[in-house]
Amino acid sequence: MTRPLFREDPALLTFGATVTEVRERAVALDATAFYPEGGGQNGDAGRLRWDGGEVRVRDTRKGEGGVVWHELEDAGPEVGTPVTGEVNAARRWRNSGRHSGEHLLAQAFHRISPAFGVAAVSMRNPESTLDLHGDPSEADVRAAETLLRETLARTPLTLDTPTVPSAELHRYPLRREAKVEGDVRLVIFRDPEGVPFDVSACGGTHVPHAAMAAPVVVLRTERIRGGLTRVSFMAGEEAAQYLGGVYAESRALAQDFSIPVERLPERVAALTEERATLKGETATLRQRLAHTLVRQVPAREVGGVPLREVTLDDVALLPLVLTDVPRDEVVAALAPGGRCGVGSAREDVPAGTLLGRALEAAGGKGGGRPALAQGTTLEPEAFLEAVRGALLASRWAGQEA
Ligand SMILES: [Zn+2]
Repeated sequence: MTRPLFREDPALLTFGATVTEVRERAVALDATAFYPEGGGQNGDAGRLRWDGGEVRVRDTRKGEGGVVWHELEDAGPEVGTPVTGEVNAARRWRNSGRHSGEHLLAQAFHRISPAFGVAAVSMRNPESTLDLHGDPSEADVRAAETLLRETLARTPLTLDTPTVPSAELHRYPLRREAKVEGDVRLVIFRDPEGVPFDVSACGGTHVPHAAMAAPVVVLRTERIRGGLTRVSFMAGEEAAQYLGGVYAESRALAQDFSIPVERLPERVAALTEERATLKGETATLRQRLAHTLVRQVPAREVGGVPLREVTLDDVALLPLVLTDVPRDEVVAALAPGGRCGVGSAREDVPAGTLLGRALEAAGGKGGGRPALAQGTTLEPEAFLEAVRGALLASRWAGQEA
């Protein structure tokens, strides 16, 4: 069993201990301030130093029988060696901030509605998650965020972590029922009068002052399986840094438009509308261009069928050209990339059949309806000639035998 100094004194980051067990690149100590991964919180990292050596601790995990294993980057000290442990403070504060943010945000949701109970949490990544029952609306989310922001800004809440026999738990306003028997470690954030803001049973590490977890910001919510709502949030220094970055990017964008940041949504709405208008105008212009392109080439009689051959420099024009065929005529068109097709305004020349026969000669594949067929040819330079050949070689319904 390893004495859990991380629980007794969460602010303790440097400590002395003795190696009790050694495994491949891992050691156990008689006591440790390294928090082992658990309860949705990452394990600690840091260093172990001893007389004549030191090694980096990459991660910390729970083992059997209350033993804590320190996973090492290299070979560690032998059993019986006295060591000094140094927990990586930045990583610990980050994890404690996320974890405290989770308790505080869960409490804020609980105050908006007790139906918003916590089903699961994860503080493994900068974007932490809180999975809630009760289907909170966007307004509920904003209300919880606001309640917490105002509380953290106006009330100094301090951490208290008493260990309480389970028989006495009824005296505490626990947000969630404690699942453990025997002695239970409580994590309480209290105001200066001693009134608790949040009481949870938890073995993790937390910040000594709730304001150190501020700001707590909800990034988004999504419905997930089991009828739960996943609330993604950030807390503490990470959240402040992230929001600052988002603001800097927004400001740069606003500067490009020569407007204040606050007017970005308005500008984006205007651009979206403008884009829709331009899209409509472009479609009309393309349609007109297709119409003109078809009519600027003369129709030539091939096997008794008036045929127009159009070569395009824009693939987007292909379907437009093939659906704008003059009365009783056939249009064959070739676009970049070997894209090709046939449009037919004649019942006796089905476009699909004609394209199929042309592609048998020129290579490629395609198909379609009697009025319009599209495909891709392997030999673009041979395609239009192949269409002429197919018209000459075949007997079409309207032709004399
Ligand atoms: Zn906790």
